[in-house]
Amino acid sequence: MATNLQTPIDYLKGVGPNRADLLRKELGIHTYQDLINLFPNRYLDRTKYYKINQLNQSTAEVQIIGKITSFKEVAQKRGKRLVATFQDETGTMELVWFRGQKWIREALKKNVPYVIFGKTNLFGGKFSMPHPDIELKTEHEENLRSTMQPIYPSTEKLSNKGITNRMMIKIMQNLFIETGGKFVETLSKNILENLKIISKSEALFNVHFPKSPELLFKAQFRLKFEELFYIQLQLILKNLIHKSKIKGFPFESVGKLFNTFYKNHLPFELTGAQKRVLKEIRADLGSNAQMNRLLQGDVGSGKTIVALMSMLMALDNGFQACLMAPTEILSVQHYNGLVELCKDLKISIKILTGSSKTSERREIHEMLENGELDILIGTHALLEDKVKFKNLGLAIIDEQHRFGVKQRSKLWKKNTFPPHVLVMTATPIPRTLAMSVYGDLDISIIDELPPGRKAIKTVHRYDSNRLKVFQFLRSEIKKKRQVYIVYPLIQESAQMDYKDLMDGYESIARDFPAPEFQISIVHGKMKPADKEFEMQRFIKGQTQIMVATTVIEVGVNVPNASVMIIESAERFGLSQLHQLRGRVGRGAEQSYCILMTSHKLSENSKKRIETMVRTNDGFEIAEVDLKLRGPGDIMGTQQSGILNLRIADIVKDNDILQHARYYAKKVLEKDPSLGHADNAVILETYRQMSKYKNIWNYIS
Ligand code: ADP
Ligand code: MG
Repeated sequence: MATNLQTPIDYLKGVGPNRADLLRKELGIHTYQDLINLFPNRYLDRTKYYKINQLNQSTAEVQIIGKITSFKEVAQKRGKRLVATFQDETGTMELVWFRGQKWIREALKKNVPYVIFGKTNLFGGKFSMPHPDIELKTEHEENLRSTMQPIYPSTEKLSNKGITNRMMIKIMQNLFIETGGKFVETLSKNILENLKIISKSEALFNVHFPKSPELLFKAQFRLKFEELFYIQLQLILKNLIHKSKIKGFPFESVGKLFNTFYKNHLPFELTGAQKRVLKEIRADLGSNAQMNRLLQGDVGSGKTIVALMSMLMALDNGFQACLMAPTEILSVQHYNGLVELCKDLKISIKILTGSSKTSERREIHEMLENGELDILIGTHALLEDKVKFKNLGLAIIDEQHRFGVKQRSKLWKKNTFPPHVLVMTATPIPRTLAMSVYGDLDISIIDELPPGRKAIKTVHRYDSNRLKVFQFLRSEIKKKRQVYIVYPLIQESAQMDYKDLMDGYESIARDFPAPEFQISIVHGKMKPADKEFEMQRFIKGQTQIMVATTVIEVGVNVPNASVMIIESAERFGLSQLHQLRGRVGRGAEQSYCILMTSHKLSENSKKRIETMVRTNDGFEIAEVDLKLRGPGDIMGTQQSGILNLRIADIVKDNDILQHARYYAKKVLEKDPSLGHADNAVILETYRQMSKYKNIWNYIS
């Protein structure tokens, strides 16, 4: 009979209650199953032995053959430590034990060959190894099953309590002996054959005791694939269930407004990407299911027109639409832009923000409820309970990373049926990550900029070159261009940042004196009306220089602005730098982005600056960002569980992720209920894993 893998770890030979307790507390290992899924962090080449005279400060874990020549006990603050002199033909070192001295002293023999393994320290010119893994050379040779020795995750407490890596290996060996190394297969025959994947049992054996580097690779591939496959399966199923449960309002037809606008009022020809994305949206809106789509497009790729035309589809079908933006400035800009685009269409558009007057609000509330208002644009103010639509058919959210998921779902609650939702973001999330994190959203990508744009030239300048930079500014302003100078104000409240900004403003005012030069300033501490006033001066060309904090990061559109200077650029993250740069390069003129930094740059900052100078491609930048920061900082990853991966690495194992997603999709396309005989394994695994939080609690 097969061993039950849910057996508590206490029962495994070599464990016992005390060690079981430690394994539970330190590594979360409760059962045989947990243990089998404790994958090695890395593998040590056990064919390699060091000589004592080869040790240096940076050697991490080493294996040495030698003899113990003497023991001594050394008194210390509390108790004493046991020190052994260990010798090979090249020199001597010390082995040190702080605990268990009596037992060790009795167990170890002098002048017989031992193999020791562990981390070395250098103290006063002498190497020592605390609590080494130690075994007789003769035993070592018998035990050496694999030339690649697994190194298991451990904690300080575990090694202090004598649960060494060698002991973990022993325990793992016992587990394989007790279970006979036979484990239930969790992937279907189809997948195993198609991908030439090795069996579960073979993979588990080789991940713990690799017979060869090739088999280790195959074992890791299989386990990573499996992990990613089941996550993707879960995400795709969630999406399918969502679609079948949540009915949308099907927009039956593309109607008059849309067609009139398309034929007569479109200010430019749509790019291929814009057309494709509109088709994708149209297909969603026409179906019975609620649309839940993420529209990714680099800054300046033209998402606004897509938003408008989608809203026209809603209006054509008798519904209202809304567009929510994260800041007041951006809402106002959207409002002005849309009013201009729609001036020849008979539709009503209003804006609602935190600074809307009571009388305006009252009017908007009324018009919304009786259906006179077609499109409402605004900030968070749209989420207030008082804002009730007669029939909201489409909600669009711009710059989604500024809004939390909770806020988003508040919008859907504004109707009996949830409206279709389009989330627009200019922070490109790497495709692969988006797939795994937003697997339950559909994704459209605008990957083409409108024609005629000149690529922005980006350069890096040190603060010491400021005079030259200012000279360049003067020459650009002479050509009637406008300039942004941005200061890092990471937290709007940080006093120091605020001081930087004001100091900067004053020095710019000295170098660019009135009346020849006019300067606007915008920051988060200003009243919305003042901000708006200053923005308008810049938009109208009354000022040539805009000194600002990152409030201008999102969406602001002044095509005549062609220079972006970012002060203390090393303090910004990559995606923020890219967002800021996107404020220029919107007109026909050559645009520039100048990244100012001090001379002192961390490796990480250097990499960010280099990346910005090298490329304008938002997706490429996002990939670098992901590599530099890891997925933890990227929006949405926290909730997705994608970070709890046991063996796969979302960045490094990108290819495997693609395979996993492809197969998960393929399986569900052919057999959405997983009812076919060949998928019985998958269904069973999926059912079991749904019971647990971590899929590895079941996959084995
Ligand atoms: P974003 O995707 O950053 O929101 P916008 O929608 O603000 O970009 O568009 C950026 C600029 O490009 C706007 O001035 C817009 O009018 C213009 N634009 C958008 N699409 C096209 C197009 N197909 N051809 C020419 N210009 C376009
Ligand atoms: Mg925009």
